[in-house]
Amino acid sequence: MSGDSEIGCKEIAQLLGDYLDGTLPSQQAELLEWHIEACPPCVAFINTYRGTINAARKLCEQEVPIPPELKNRLIGFLKQQPPPPR
Ligand SMILES: [Zn+2]
Repeated sequence: MSGDSEIGCKEIAQLLGDYLDGTLPSQQAELLEWHIEACPPCVAFINTYRGTINAARKLCEQEVPIPPELKNRLIGFLKQQPPPPR
């Protein structure tokens, strides 16, 4: 029964936009920060994401989705699964 109180890197990626906007509920923001403290890959991911948003906001005010390639690289790194042999 270690249920809803933990969030994973996928959730971080999903919540990050709201978190950086300051619209994430404080309970979830706490979980996010707690996760990040123990997860250097997420810190790097957030720094990259932040830079992407700042760059995008200079161009226009629209939301920018996380680049799929970046997301896949992060998930792959965290799972540490080698690609299947061919
Ligand atoms: Zn993480």
